[in-house]
Formats: sequence, C-alpha cells, structure tokens
Amino acid sequence: MRDFMLNEEDRAFRAEIVEFLDRELVPRAEAIERDADWEAVSAVVRALGEAGYMKLMFADLYSGSLSNPGLTHATILSEEAALRNYAFETTIATALSCAFPLHRHARPEIRDRYLSPILEGRAVGSICMTEPDVGSDSAGMKTRIRFDAARDEWVISGFKRYISNASKADVYIVWGISDPDVAPQKGMTALAVPSDAAGLCFPRTYDFAGRRGCVVGEVAFDEVRVPRDHLLGEENQGFKVMLGAFNFERVILGGSGLGVARSAFEIARAHAQKREAFGQKLGQKQLIWDMIAEMSWRIDAAELLTHRAAKMYDSGIDGKELMREAAQAKLVATETAVFCADRAVQILGGDGYTRQFGRCEQIYRDARALPIVGGTSEMCKYLIAAREMPEIRPNL
Ligand SMILES: Cc1cc2nc3c(=O)[nH]c(=O)nc-3n(C[C@H](O)[C@H](O)[C@H](O)COP(=O)(O)OP(=O)(O)OC[C@H]3O[C@@H](n4cnc5c(N)ncnc54)[C@H](O)[C@@H]3O)c2cc1C
Repeated sequence: MRDFMLNEEDRAFRAEIVEFLDRELVPRAEAIERDADWEAVSAVVRALGEAGYMKLMFADLYSGSLSNPGLTHATILSEEAALRNYAFETTIATALSCAFPLHRHARPEIRDRYLSPILEGRAVGSICMTEPDVGSDSAGMKTRIRFDAARDEWVISGFKRYISNASKADVYIVWGISDPDVAPQKGMTALAVPSDAAGLCFPRTYDFAGRRGCVVGEVAFDEVRVPRDHLLGEENQGFKVMLGAFNFERVILGGSGLGVARSAFEIARAHAQKREAFGQKLGQKQLIWDMIAEMSWRIDAAELLTHRAAKMYDSGIDGKELMREAAQAKLVATETAVFCADRAVQILGGDGYTRQFGRCEQIYRDARALPIVGGTSEMCKYLIAAREMPEIRPNL
C-alpha cells in the first residue's frame, strides 16, 4: 500500500494539492521546460501562496504559537510538484528552505516582513551557502560578516555560487564567517538580506542540463549592509542555524526525489505494458520486469524513509536525533530518482532519449541534480555513518 504512514488529514491534503497542481502547474509545465519560463514558474508560486498551501506548513504563525512547521505536508507538496515539473518544485522547495530559518530564527518584525510574503506567494526566497572554493565543506566558506557598531549594521563581503532563485528572490539567507579566529562552528553568522540591498549583484546565471525554468546563479556581496535586526539567531551561531535548516531541506528533498522517481516510473510502466517486441509486451520480458520490480521497491523504500523522517520531525524530533533519518530519506529518494530516470530511458529505447516523444529525457536530465543539491550523496553517507559509529568520527 502506498501512503502507508500517512493519516486521513495528510491524504486529504494530497488530494487537494494534486487538484491544484493539475489545474495550475500542468498546463504551464511545457512552457517552463521549453522556454525556461520564469514567468510561468512565478505565476504558479503566486497561485500556490494565494490558495494558502504554503501557510498550511507554518500554521502556528496564523494561530499564534510558534511550533514546528508541518514537514509532512511540505514533503507531499514537493513530491506531487516534482512529479509534474521539477523546476517549479525546486523553486518552492528553496523558498521553503528559506522560510524555515526565518520562521525559526528571525526577530518577530523581520519574520513578519520577509516570511509572510513568501508564504503568501508574493515573494521568493533563496539560501546562500555554496561558494567557488567550498560546497560540501561549507565550514570553509570565505564570505566575511562583520558588525559596524558605528552604524549599527552588519556588513557582508563575499561571493556565492550555484544559488537557486539567485536574481529572482526577494530575500536571501546568507552565511559568512564572523570570527575567523575560532572554529567555523563557533564563528559563523547568518543574516537575512533583502534583494534591494546596495552592493548585492548577480554576475552570472547558469545554463544547467536540467531543471529548466528554475533560475540558478551567482550572488556577489560587495560590502552589503543590513540593519542589526536582520541577524538570524545569535551572532557567531550561524552554523547551528545552518544545521537546523539541513534536516528540513533534506526531508523535503526526499519528497522531490520521490516525485521525480514516480514520474519516470509511471512512464516506464505504461510503456512496458503497451509496446510489443518479439511478439509480446515488453513488460513480459524478464529483463524488463526485473527493472519494473526494482523501480517499484526502490520507490516504496524512498517513500517509507521520507515519510518516517517527516513524521519524526512533526512529532518534535529534530537536530542530531533526526540527522541520520533525514540523510537516509534524501540519499535513498534522490538516488532512486536517478535510478528510475535511467531505467525509464532504457525501457523506452529511442523514444526515451528524444525530446519528440514525451518527458523521459527531461526527467533524466532533471534527476541528475538531486544527488548533488542539499548535501551530496557522499555527505549523506557520512552523516549516516557518523550516527552509526558515534565513538569514532568517519574521516571526511
Ligand atoms: C542545480 C543546483 C542548485 C543549487 N542550489 C543551491 C542553493 O540554492 N544554495 C546553495 O547554497 N547551494 C546550491 N547548490 C550547490 C550545491 O549545494 C553544491 O553543488 C553541493 O553542496 C556540492 O558542492 P560542490 O558543487 O562545491 O562540490 P564539492 O563539495 O567540491 O564536491 C565534489 C564531489 O566530491 C565529493 N566529496 C567532497 N568531499 C568529500 C569527502 N570528504 N569524501 C568523499 N567525497 C567527497 C562530493 O560528494 C561531490 O561528489 C546548488 C547546486 C546545483 C547543481
């Protein structure tokens, strides 16, 4: 049974979101892919916000008490959106990953200023960690953040790359080293930066193999200044803000991987039952049903791990206690997406490799980003092994 770990409320949410995405996203999905159409992406982001589906995940903001955002629903939204168009999904997944630290760590007035517009679909958020010299090794970042007491402002100098929603976002969450004399874990600071801050610029937009329609580019900070209250959490505690955001982001990426994997599987399964070769359906050939069976069990494993991590989070488990489960969900779901995309192309043969006959080759290109973004598969394995062997530290 699919959805085994979900309750009635979760299933009702999925039914609603499916209806919404079929109405708003599906008719635009072709333009998003063909023309890398940002306007189409942002139209669906607006509609999603207006329909209230981003708010549902931060329901506490609207009822008065600040508790954990609802990750199960965020994951279902990611899965169903990625199944229909991964570029759109990655835009909102990034916005949600930006919303999370704002929700958790921003001063109330800053939270209200930047978070509400994201949740209402009027604004897009972005998270800036990766730099030219550091990706996985984020503690080694070169961006510097200092506090100018005379002007009561934070000052950021640095350069970030591979940033989703780069030139399109309204607010950027930025990490930088604020005390170079101590370990980065104790000398990193996180800030919220509005897109109109002087000194912020976007030198390059990348031309990626897939995810067409989601803008990814460079973000340069040339002595960018923000007021004191734009600090997230405490000064020099940015690493904690980052680690907290990782769990949330990885579970959502479980949903992304699951959606992309399902989209490939559905195409492959339909083709295997229709196409004939050597006088029989393709699906009757042992080598093909082996592939169908393997795609099926991998998807179910990815789903169980993703829902487990989301449910754990929603029941109040986070931080180190969720690190292994969040990493497992991300690792298995994203590797499953790559596996299923590859096997779908194989099962479709020539049809799978051309743009003329359906989405298979698009899914193949899209899927490949998943084991890289939000912590590579290798980093996820490190996190899992580190929890399994707490007495020793696996060598990074
Ligand atoms: C489409 C896309 C969107 C992105 N969006 C964002 C975003 O919004 N914000 C953001 O901050 N970043 C973003 N990124 C960056 C992404 O998070 C990084 O690409 C990722 O963390 C890997 O960093 P890197 O590319 O510098 O590779 P590296 O860290 O240089 O790693 C290269 C390879 O070496 C492996 N490796 C590294 N260290 C070890 C080790 N100790 N042991 C074994 N293997 C190791 C890695 O797993 C990887 O396979 C995005 C990237 C892409 C492709």
